[in-house]
Amino acid sequence: STGFPAPTQTRIFVVANQKGGVGKTTTSVNLAAALALGGLNVLVLDLDPQGNASTALGIDHGPGVPGTYEVLIEGAAIEDHLVSSPEAPHLQVLPATIDLAGAEIQLVSSVARENRLRKALRTYLADHPVDYVFLDCPPSLGLITLNALVAASEILIPIQCEYYALEGVSQLVRTINLVKGELNEGLEVSTVLLTMYDARTRLAAQVAEEVRSYFTEQTLPTVIPRSVRISEAPSYGQTVLTYHPDSAGAVSYLEAAQEIARRGARQEGQ
Ligand code: ADP
Ligand code: MG
Repeated sequence: STGFPAPTQTRIFVVANQKGGVGKTTTSVNLAAALALGGLNVLVLDLDPQGNASTALGIDHGPGVPGTYEVLIEGAAIEDHLVSSPEAPHLQVLPATIDLAGAEIQLVSSVARENRLRKALRTYLADHPVDYVFLDCPPSLGLITLNALVAASEILIPIQCEYYALEGVSQLVRTINLVKGELNEGLEVSTVLLTMYDARTRLAAQVAEEVRSYFTEQTLPTVIPRSVRISEAPSYGQTVLTYHPDSAGAVSYLEAAQEIARRGARQEGQ
């Protein structure tokens, strides 16, 4: 297996883009699996009522399975509802069930509504050694995503190499700046990942160029290709890293994870 440098502090990534279908979940689970297979301790918190990250990591999230809902709404401890993923040792998941669909409304009237995830995560991290946390967000800028932005230390924006790729990103950046100013001063867009890249089209190259000129420092050199293996893996309850480890999709996620780990190490060295 490929070793990764461990960060000196837990890195908490919120994987956000309010557009649906851009590769948030695919990116969260595959980067998490890559880092865990590389020997690090990794946590994935599924914040989307669809529970796609739970599915892709081989975790049951049928009705009645406790997880993110209990943590956000009932104040349960993260520790009590984490499940180990069969994908890798040291990869744990907080599952999301459809119950979470109601949480968006319930949060509106709850105390310290933007801070609930941050508090729960801080409590957990205070006595568990974790290298990476991935917060897989729903496709909206509601209170669940806000909780994730407040709990995180870094933002990872996946951008699909399609028409209107940057549409919505300026809205996301405005939201990020508000959160930064009011609720989480240290928050930064550290990483942008180009997903579903089709090397045969001029469009993909144009979108990639546009994104790189907007997020010059943040965009990873590695791009994730459009790959049937990547899209098939969740139906087997797997990530592409274990489903087809030699496929182009698996290799690209492994490379992206390496870039993220090295960048983190470099930033700390400054
Ligand atoms: P989001 O979480 O942003 O809604 P997903 O990660 O669920 O997006 O991806 C949307 C769909 O695209 C899913 O069906 C997923 O399997 C597929 N997909 C994601 N990345 C790729 C890729 N690189 N190649 C092919 N299909 C992909
Ligand atoms: Mg998703």
